Amino acid sequence: MAQERSMAVAEFLSKAELIKQGAEARVYRTEFLGKPTIVKERFPKRYRHPALDEKLTHRRTVQEVRSILRCRKAGISTPVVYFVDYTSHCIFLEEIVGSVTVRDHIASAQQSGSRTESELEQLADRVGKILGRMHDEDVIHGDLTTSNMLLKRGPEDGEDELVLIDFGLSYNSALPEDKGVDLYVLEKAFLSTHPNTESLFEKLLKSYAASSKKSAAVVKKLDEVRLRGRKRSMVG
Ligand code: AMP
Repeated sequence: MAQERSMAVAEFLSKAELIKQGAEARVYRTEFLGKPTIVKERFPKRYRHPALDEKLTHRRTVQEVRSILRCRKAGISTPVVYFVDYTSHCIFLEEIVGSVTVRDHIASAQQSGSRTESELEQLADRVGKILGRMHDEDVIHGDLTTSNMLLKRGPEDGEDELVLIDFGLSYNSALPEDKGVDLYVLEKAFLSTHPNTESLFEKLLKSYAASSKKSAAVVKKLDEVRLRGRKRSMVG
């Protein structure tokens, strides 16, 4: 039964549009039950022992779905999960149609200078707030970058919706250290992707601190991780 379903999924994906071939997964765009859909397919890695690979892949798929559902339950925007096939390790997700990544949004704002500084500050404020709420749910994203945040056009004159994606490396933890490292990963990605945005990132952190109930311990850990990072780069 599971094998048959898996073959049906493979047949279905052969007609879908491949939009990304990563080291761990392929991402497709398609239509599922009449809805624009993104399918994330984790494939076997030959260099791993098959039983271990199966276990790891299964765990990652379960964790990705669990984190998305946890966030959605808490009112944090993430794509709807339409269907999961644990045999072929495929997750069918709502496609956030007409969205741009926060990365592209900031880059084009910086390039054209068309958006005011306060507009980008508002965006940083919203990102900080959503991450504070996510961490209060004890969800660690594991791969926070501005590419993993989408801006979905809101209704005319309305605010764009901020949607978090790609929970493939996520897990559950209440530890301030894990949350601090999650923010550190974002800080590194943010500052290297968007030059001269130190004050924008500080704005994000301020809003994170204001929105998360347990932020003091997390920000303290972030400072410690930063210090460790600095020492390491001085030694290297
Ligand atoms: P991922 O490997 O999950 O980061 O997905 C790769 C790329 O596919 C992302 O950078 C997005 O541009 C796009 N993408 C992933 N999920 C969605 C989604 N639910 N809606 C729209 N685009 C998506």
